Amino acid sequence: MSVKVYIPTPFRKITGNRTFVDADGIDVNGVLRDLDQRFPGFGEMVFDGEQELLEHVNVYVNNHEITSLEGPQTPVADGDELAVIPAIAGGAGPTPTVMTPEMVERYSRHLIMDQVGPLGQRKLIDGKILAVGAGGLGSPVLVYLAAAGIGTIGIADFDVVDRSNLQRQIIHGTSDIGRMKVDSAKDRILDMNPNINVVTHTSPLTSDNAMEIIPEYDVIINGADNFATRYLVNDAAFLAEKILVDGSIFLFEGQVTTFFPGEGCYRCLYPSPPPPGMVPSCSEAGVLGVLPGTVGAIQATEAIKVLLEQGEPLKNRLLLYDALAMDFRTVKIRRDPGCPLCGDAPTVTELIDYEEFCGSPFHEN
Ligand SMILES: [Zn+2]
Repeated sequence: MSVKVYIPTPFRKITGNRTFVDADGIDVNGVLRDLDQRFPGFGEMVFDGEQELLEHVNVYVNNHEITSLEGPQTPVADGDELAVIPAIAGGAGPTPTVMTPEMVERYSRHLIMDQVGPLGQRKLIDGKILAVGAGGLGSPVLVYLAAAGIGTIGIADFDVVDRSNLQRQIIHGTSDIGRMKVDSAKDRILDMNPNINVVTHTSPLTSDNAMEIIPEYDVIINGADNFATRYLVNDAAFLAEKILVDGSIFLFEGQVTTFFPGEGCYRCLYPSPPPPGMVPSCSEAGVLGVLPGTVGAIQATEAIKVLLEQGEPLKNRLLLYDALAMDFRTVKIRRDPGCPLCGDAPTVTELIDYEEFCGSPFHEN
C-alpha cells in the first residue's frame, strides 16, 4: 500500500526538508519501518530500544490517532495520509503535549479539518488566552475557548453574579447569583472540558498588577465593562507586546478589532477616555441580551484563528455590527503615528489608573 506521510519539523532534517514523503506498508508499523529504510535515522526518532513506538510520538492515519484505531497494527490503504507527530520540546520546554484518546475523540471535528488537524489542535492546547471580564462578552468567549481546548484560560473579573446579568451573561446560572463570576465561569467551563487549565484573577486590574498578569498570556480578549479597564488592558497589552482582541457593545451595535503589537492600538482610534459624566452610567446603558453573544463569538473566533495562524484576522480593520439593520461592515483603521501610546512620540509610557466610571458610546458587560 502506498501512503503519504506528513513529516513534522523536528524530523525534516532526516527527510531532506520534505514535508510529505511517500512510503509503503500494510499497516502503520510497516510504513514506519519502510520510512527507516528510506531515511536512515528515522527509526531512532520513533522507536525505543525494544522497537516499540516511543510514548511521546503520536501517529495519525487520516487524522485519527492510532490508539483510537488498532495501534501500530492499524492497516493502511493506498492513498491514506499518515502524520507522525512528536511532543514538542521534550526535556527543556513545557510539559509535552500528548493527546489522550479522550482528547482525540473530543477534538475529532477539529482533527479532520485541514486548517486545524493534529498540529493545529496542539497549538490550541499550548495556547494561553486571557479573557478580561466574565460578563456578556466573556460568556461566549470563555465557553468557546474551553470547548476548543485552549490549554490555559485566564479569567479576570472581580464582580459577583447578579440576577440582572442573566439576560445576557449566559455562562452563569440562577444558582450562581451572589457567587464570584470567575468561580461560576470556571466551574462551567471545566465541566465542559476538564482538560484545560483555568486561572482566575479576582483583583481589579490596576497599574500595579496588570503587568504581572497580561504578560503570562499569548492573546488578550478585552470584554471590559468600563473605560478604566479598557484603556489599562490596551496599554498593558501594547507594553507587553501581546495580541489584543477588542470587543465592545452598546444597545444593538458591536465593534470588534484585533491589534497586533506595534500595528495600532485602541488609543489610535480613541486617544483617551471621555471625561466622567459625559456618558450614561452603567445602570442606564441598555444592551440587547443576544448582542454580546454574537460579538463575543467573533472575538473567540479571532483568538482561535490567531493561535492557529489561519485566515485573516481583523488586523487594521474594525468590524461594525448593527443588529437592528443586520449589517456587518469593516472599515480600515491604521496605526496613528500621533497615538499617545504606540505613536512615534508617545506620551503614555506607563500604565494609568483612570477614575472608574461606566458607559460610553461603547459600553459593554
Ligand atoms: Zn495606538
